[in-house]
Amino acid sequence: MSAESEEFRFFKVIQGYLEQAAELTRLPAHTKAILAEPKNELIVHFPVQMDDGETRVFKGYRIQHNNLLGPYKGGMRYHQQVSLDELKALASQMTWKCALFGVPFGGGKGGIKFNPRDHSPKELRRITRRFTHALGKNIGPAHDIPAPDMGTNAQTMVWMMDTYINTGPTYEKNDQRAVVTGKTINSGGSEGRETATGQGVVHCIKEWARETRFDLEGATAIVQGFGNVGSNTALLLSKLGVSTIAVGDHTGYLRNDEGFNAHKLQDYDAANHSIEGYPTGEKITRDEFFETKADFFIPAALENQVGDKEAIKLDVRLIAEGANGPIHPEGEAVLADRGVPIIPDILANSGGVTVSYYEWVQNRNSEHWDAEEVQRRLLHMMRRAYQRTMFYAAEKKVSARIAAYALALESLATCYEERGIFP
Ligand code: NAD
Repeated sequence: MSAESEEFRFFKVIQGYLEQAAELTRLPAHTKAILAEPKNELIVHFPVQMDDGETRVFKGYRIQHNNLLGPYKGGMRYHQQVSLDELKALASQMTWKCALFGVPFGGGKGGIKFNPRDHSPKELRRITRRFTHALGKNIGPAHDIPAPDMGTNAQTMVWMMDTYINTGPTYEKNDQRAVVTGKTINSGGSEGRETATGQGVVHCIKEWARETRFDLEGATAIVQGFGNVGSNTALLLSKLGVSTIAVGDHTGYLRNDEGFNAHKLQDYDAANHSIEGYPTGEKITRDEFFETKADFFIPAALENQVGDKEAIKLDVRLIAEGANGPIHPEGEAVLADRGVPIIPDILANSGGVTVSYYEWVQNRNSEHWDAEEVQRRLLHMMRRAYQRTMFYAAEKKVSARIAAYALALESLATCYEERGIFP
């Protein structure tokens, strides 16, 4: 079965991983029941005037999965496929990520079901402001803190922050900047946040290379999705001597056996909003992309991209999941049989939430850390989470994914046990 050929129920897949990890950790039944569903599911409809004077009503979501360890935290996705099922899955993954990394946040996720590519910057600004207004006090720096995800970026976060702080009391304005993370530096963002998710993926690959004594210099990668996560991963890999030889985005796939210049491709993508037409790449099909022999595969686009059909084709040594949920369990079973290791999403792509946490701390303390400080802390967090996960996986003879879930669950379960159930 190809990954994209059947209706995909992302939340059910995530609940399946929870089920497996709960069994492994002997999670109390009531804790599992609490974690199996989000605490709050908010849906808003709001009108926005388009540039041509027409008014369109949009559907927005915010899912708050769990706030045991701290305020809800998670991205805002703008995409035509956004659904309740998808956001419930992504929100729960945020709970596991924060618990695995010891970041004092819970899990949240939200978004709007529409294609941002169909709208002008002015329309995007009005859509973002009306959405933020519709969410009202359901978000807040001590309650629920959005960040960028697919289809949103630092500019989106600045519009959200500006709307939020201007609808609250004037004397609280500065404090309230921490309502979102992933902002531009000028508007209170952190050094290193833009590249943090890609940097985290690369730290994991480096750890794997160190453990397996694999020389990264001269190695190759294929990267699906060339937005924030994909392009920054490719760029940072190139600094270690790893060339990206095939890339893909929503417009199609390109191959360059000599290796793409990741800097130039990133600039081209920023100017053209896709990799389509980039001059030094040969156009290939999606199947040919998955057949391209390389050392690493970095999925950095959507969920459910690798079913068993794609998994059989993949000819790589290691997969590091930049995207959330890119591999279907059927694809994962094939890869396990073939002995292809996977660094799972909740480990590999948590550099983003980690530096978001640093941004939140800086905002709340009116500090600005330099880039070296952020990078030093991020490296420490990624290494620690990587080593704990791989050690647990080896000890319990489970996949790195189930090990990462189990470690997250153990931390949540301890906290539930200590605190008990209210009242
Ligand atoms: P983005 O919007 O910056 O980029 C998304 C990329 O995926 C674009 O290049 C787009 O063209 C491509 N894409 C979309 N549909 C595709 C398709 N059908 N086939 C191939 N390519 C397609 O988004 P992003 O922030 O880079 O997020 C990518 C993934 O990483 C998502 O799964 C997101 O949840 C995850 N993630 C992002 C962050 C972050 O900090 N931005 C953190 C953790 C995880």
